[in-house]
Amino acid sequence: MLLGLTEKLSYLSESDLRRVERAYRYAEESHMGQMRQTGDMYITHPLAVANILADMHMDPEGLIAAMLHDVLEDTGVTKGQISRRFGRTVADLVDGVSKLNEIEFASKAEQQAESFQKMTLAMSRDIRVLLVKLADRLHNMRTLGTLAPDKRRRVARETMEIYAPIAQRLGINHIRLELEELSFAAMYPLRHRRLREATEAARQNRKAFVFEIRQSIENRLQREALNAVVKGREKHLWSIYLKMREKKKAFRDIMDVFAFRLVVESVDDCYRALGMMHSIFKPVPGEFKDYIAIPKANGYQSVHTVLVGMHGVLIEVQIRTAEMETIANYGIAAHGEYKAGNTREEGSQRRASRWIQGLLAMQKQAGDSLEFLEHVKADLFPDEVYVFTPRGEIVELPAGATAIDFAYSVHTGLGNSCIACRVDGQLTSLSESLQSGQKIEIISAEGAQPNPNWLSFVATAKARSAIRHYLKQQEHHESVTLGKRLLDQALGKFGTSYRQLKKSEIKRILTSSGASTFEYILHQIGLGNRVPLAVANLIVPLDQTPQSLQQRAPTLPLEVGAQKGSLLQYARCCHPIPGDPILGHLSPGKGVVVHLESCRNLSELRSQPEKCTPMTWSSRVHGQFPVELKVEITPERGFIAVLASRITEKDATIEKVSTLDKDAYTSVVDLVIAVRDRIHLADILRRVRGLPAVRRVSRVRN
Ligand code: MN
Repeated sequence: MLLGLTEKLSYLSESDLRRVERAYRYAEESHMGQMRQTGDMYITHPLAVANILADMHMDPEGLIAAMLHDVLEDTGVTKGQISRRFGRTVADLVDGVSKLNEIEFASKAEQQAESFQKMTLAMSRDIRVLLVKLADRLHNMRTLGTLAPDKRRRVARETMEIYAPIAQRLGINHIRLELEELSFAAMYPLRHRRLREATEAARQNRKAFVFEIRQSIENRLQREALNAVVKGREKHLWSIYLKMREKKKAFRDIMDVFAFRLVVESVDDCYRALGMMHSIFKPVPGEFKDYIAIPKANGYQSVHTVLVGMHGVLIEVQIRTAEMETIANYGIAAHGEYKAGNTREEGSQRRASRWIQGLLAMQKQAGDSLEFLEHVKADLFPDEVYVFTPRGEIVELPAGATAIDFAYSVHTGLGNSCIACRVDGQLTSLSESLQSGQKIEIISAEGAQPNPNWLSFVATAKARSAIRHYLKQQEHHESVTLGKRLLDQALGKFGTSYRQLKKSEIKRILTSSGASTFEYILHQIGLGNRVPLAVANLIVPLDQTPQSLQQRAPTLPLEVGAQKGSLLQYARCCHPIPGDPILGHLSPGKGVVVHLESCRNLSELRSQPEKCTPMTWSSRVHGQFPVELKVEITPERGFIAVLASRITEKDATIEKVSTLDKDAYTSVVDLVIAVRDRIHLADILRRVRGLPAVRRVSRVRN
């Protein structure tokens, strides 16, 4: 069964050939008993795929992967088993091809075809994955006839939209052309048949003409002693069909063109041959194209010209070297790429990169813009990832994007309310980078809000600005709420409250302060830019003096921690923790700063009583609060470690440690630790005091 293939594989070493044969037998065994729709044994398919790749001189790993490309999906064999038997590279290749097969069956709107192409490329980190996949698709297209008509059309459309363009981008023209012809036949069987019959008839009529033109070309080349192979070129049906449909040309006009290809030995010969052609027949102005000097995006090189032959028929001539011919057919898979150097060690991605470098060099010589390269490069080394929504739509994101980026790209509301995500059905961290081909599902909750931490890992501008916008809104909302509370508290001193405010009073304050909205005033109070007592004074009738009322009606303290918000801050000078007696200070631009009642900084601030506000801790407060400790010890080796473990055992975190040697007998350790509240702190202090080396422990209050 391997006979034909073995012959083709003469470019392999004896031992490599054995490995490929071993893979063949393994695949045959694994697929034992399975049949194709065509009625053939299943193994005929991977064998055919390997055959197609052997024509392209694929390396042994690629051929082995071709033999095994369906075993993961269709048999009980696992990736691990392949890896143990044939090595990691082969296992990765087979896995890569299988992954591409999975994406085939997701939803596919026509406008998504381009995304699918890109995704396919993005998922194939190893270019051999694509080559195996293209060969697989080619054989499936060749044996399409046994499928039901609608399935046949679906597969054909997919081939036309995704795989043929990929083959074209990679410069693998012979595969592209065959994929197109087969897809055309399956998509429009009637049009295809009519066109084929018409072309065959036309060819019969043209035979004599073709012969005549070829004669004059060959004679001329011989006379000038230029070695060249002259080939008559038949136009492909799909390209004829496209010309008729898109350029609105009549079939006759297209068939009136005779196409020839000259394959010569050197670039020099290309131009010489061109000169000869122009001297036998008159060239059509504007039809001459020099793709040798300026190659096409996928590396294609040739000289094209159109001539007017006898009786006014048009003759298209392509002239190229044998090497250019190989590149034109095989592109990235061109023989040289696989033969050069010791292929085994060379990663195929490096090979792809070498291909691109070749293109780059060509392009440099051509002095043309590099735009074409960016195209190819972006395809093979993509900066994007392509992922699916749960409904199968493709979302394009920059590399490094996370589920948060995904959520915001779908809808801002989804991003704002996102709390978790599933990637391919698994709960996954929101900060993890997404990979092409993954299916992303966002879990959202009403009332959830963006976390400022997200800003440290999101990759898209959309997510970043949406998060910032939300947080800013949020801050505004918080300052207004806080302003309302502070004003309410101040109004209490005047024997009234926020709720009792009348419209006329609000109007009055707006006029006297020049503010456009009351909300703006509340916002300013919340930010500490306006003193609440002063605002309250503007609102209530003048005859009520604050001082007298203040004694009669003590102000209700604000609660700390009843609501989260960034406008409440804890003073760094005295580190208040829940349970401590505290006092709030209204600080311009910052809102309320919470100090220890005993903080020394406050004595200064107390001279402005209108800027101070009584505060208590809410019973709902929770979090980690830093507190500073001073520990006096008798110096002892390893003491810091002992101290640290004592503290952390009690669930407190150490934020800062520094030691100072007072004298030979005393050291002082300065610590900042984070605790829950005073009870937690007392517990820790007790444990620290219990250490033998410790002489004194005290909490540092300003
Ligand atoms: Mn297959």
